[in-house]
Amino acid sequence: MLPVDFIESMRVQLGQEAELLLRALETEPVTSIRLNSKLDVLTFECDTDEVPWHIDGYYLSERPQFTLDPLFHAGCYYVQEASSMFIQQALEQYIDSSSVVLDLCAAPGGKSTLISEYLGADGLLVANEVVRQRVFVLSENIQKWGNGNTVVTHNTPEEFGERCRHLFDCILVDAPCSGEGMFRKDEQARSEWSLQTVRMCAERQRSILMDVWDALKPGGILLYSTCTFNEEENEKNVNWIAEVLGADVLPLDYDPSWGITEGQVGYHFYPHKTKGEGFYLCVLRKNSNEELQPVKMKTKDAGQKANPHPEYLPVMRSWLQHPDDWAIRYTDRFATAYPLKYKELIDWFSTRLTCISTGFGLGEERGRGIAPQHSLSMLKDLRKEAFPMVALTREQALSYLRTEALNLTDVPLGLLLLTYEGVPLGFAKNVGNRQNNLYPNEWRIRHL
Ligand code: SAM
Repeated sequence: MLPVDFIESMRVQLGQEAELLLRALETEPVTSIRLNSKLDVLTFECDTDEVPWHIDGYYLSERPQFTLDPLFHAGCYYVQEASSMFIQQALEQYIDSSSVVLDLCAAPGGKSTLISEYLGADGLLVANEVVRQRVFVLSENIQKWGNGNTVVTHNTPEEFGERCRHLFDCILVDAPCSGEGMFRKDEQARSEWSLQTVRMCAERQRSILMDVWDALKPGGILLYSTCTFNEEENEKNVNWIAEVLGADVLPLDYDPSWGITEGQVGYHFYPHKTKGEGFYLCVLRKNSNEELQPVKMKTKDAGQKANPHPEYLPVMRSWLQHPDDWAIRYTDRFATAYPLKYKELIDWFSTRLTCISTGFGLGEERGRGIAPQHSLSMLKDLRKEAFPMVALTREQALSYLRTEALNLTDVPLGLLLLTYEGVPLGFAKNVGNRQNNLYPNEWRIRHL
């Protein structure tokens, strides 16, 4: 059942059209995925249809059991709600790929992986999540996506505003909201909704925006989005940003056949008109009358220790396709690689922010040697040929992903890179009488 006050408020907002929306909210949600450039082609047993506003987006006619697909665990695609892929259009129209972008409310990482893909090797993404329990799933999804161009942080909007003044070219605030657009997918969103929740969300959104605002460069771009329909959390907040914080609302080009509804400001996705769940996006440019006063970065010591064994360096570099693109930092026994182009900035972040990961785990000193970390196996810049590869069947792959014992025959001794349909899943070590499963325990498939 839809909440009565919600029905009433949509009737006020949309007039007669509200009946079409209310009916659409009682139908089944749509399943969609966005492909990773890790993989050239992906085949599903059901029919697929293209998401028109994102070149890598596809609708699936049925919802497969993604957990049973090893390619899902290898980060070959992200199960992402189709409407939210519209962020891509804003990036293409306003953001240079060599930008430094903050995704402030990032977990579980749907939009972060999209932005990371858009920026590629040119730009840098900071994917932040303030809720502790959610930051690890964000970090997992970022690692699985495999670009290595993302720093994952766990900070408050206020900390960004205070510590990163005028630093970001673009900030995405995909705000926590009352979730009306998720009513088809999420029973809890319906049961928790009330007019008071809408008011509370709208206030919290303004406080998040106010707190982070200083971190955006003058002239920088704010992408403001929600998955809710009401004007309190959408248009009214955007008008408040424009007037109180100081910004101009920018238009987006789109194809009329996509069924997007223009609000008084910004763009709505209503499920009775667009194929996807409810979504709202508005693009704003921060006024540039303020003088640019970026933080001064002093990066004497970013908490890194010198490599105790310089002979490991060429070994680790041999694991990468483009070793010269990466800087390497040591923390205790662990070596992390991160984009050389942004070395100074990332070193500075690591002293000023609570960084969960800065790039990707490259190597770990073990005994008298250096072993690759799991996240290297997910990296697109991995040089696969650096390791003996073993192709797994689907059953073997699922068993590996459940961290079960492996029974591989005729495989070389030592470290092995396990693949499924040519895509790396992770490492194992053949010690002769058995193979040690090195898949991260915290990522293992628990229920099938
Ligand atoms: N952008 C994500 C994606 O595409 O996968 C979805 C983000 S979800 C709509 C909003 C996020 O904001 C949640 O992860 C939530 O934990 C976080 N959040 C909640 N309260 C917050 C606050 N006060 N400041 C910043 N983020 C907050």
